[in-house]
Amino acid sequence: MILDNFRLDGRVALVTGGNRGLGAGCALALAEAGADIALLGRTDPAETTQAIVELGRRVSYVPCDLGKAGPAELAAAVGTVRDELGRLDILVNNAGIIRRAPAAEVTAADWDDVRAVNVDAVFHLSQAAGRLMIDQGSGKIINIASMLSFQGGIRVPAYTAGKHAVIGITRALANEWAGLGVNVNAIAPGYMATDNTAALRDDPARAGAILDRIPAGRWGTPGDLGGAVVFLASDASRYVHAAVLPVDGGWLAR
Ligand code: NAP
Repeated sequence: MILDNFRLDGRVALVTGGNRGLGAGCALALAEAGADIALLGRTDPAETTQAIVELGRRVSYVPCDLGKAGPAELAAAVGTVRDELGRLDILVNNAGIIRRAPAAEVTAADWDDVRAVNVDAVFHLSQAAGRLMIDQGSGKIINIASMLSFQGGIRVPAYTAGKHAVIGITRALANEWAGLGVNVNAIAPGYMATDNTAALRDDPARAGAILDRIPAGRWGTPGDLGGAVVFLASDASRYVHAAVLPVDGGWLAR
């Protein structure tokens, strides 16, 4: 049955930044589809943990600040997931930060902070998980990109550069690992109602301009990513490699 290909029973997924926002939405969707979940982040994911337990799945919290962790610490985090949950099948690189300032005023510190979380951690965690997945001959890596993987954005140059890099990482890894049983893909969310976009939604002019451009006529929600993340985490996407799947209410078509 085709629907069975979407089930994730017995799989283990590692989601970064799963305590809130889109990461929580992804973690809950993967758990609903049957996966046990490791939540990697710097804040205790109490609410997400409880919701996963209520779904009857196992859950583990791996404390880690992705702005500070280097390759060795990220490799150790992957090892912790395997030790605590027995295996690792799916990695969702979701955690990300945004700093807003005109390009002429962006500080070197802000540039470095955004790059560390949005680019460096994505590559090093993918590398650590990818080594394990290559050894087991299977795995799914899903990177959370953005509309600003395609567009320039306004007053967020470090974020835009980083999200373009996420697509580059996705394609580079997919080219090397597709033949080794590892699918590397990305999801590009549109404008979603989370803390990441609070400043935009608090600005009536920007919020109105954005909403007017979304063909679906509403901002997205964390739950809107569920179908895409389960698809890319499951056997249903076994021949899908290096794709960037927009979940954007039609934004890119305008
Ligand atoms: P959010 O609500 O601000 O959540 C960000 C998540 O990243 C939180 O879980 C946060 O943990 C985690 N994080 C940030 N810095 C971290 C660090 N140094 N170490 C570990 N975890 C860290 O944002 P969101 O909207 O859910 O965004 C999730 C992803 O989607 C990001 O990659 C974002 O760029 C992307 N995205 C969002 C939108 C949108 O419209 N919202 C659109 C396109 C793409 P803490 O709670 O500890 O800070």
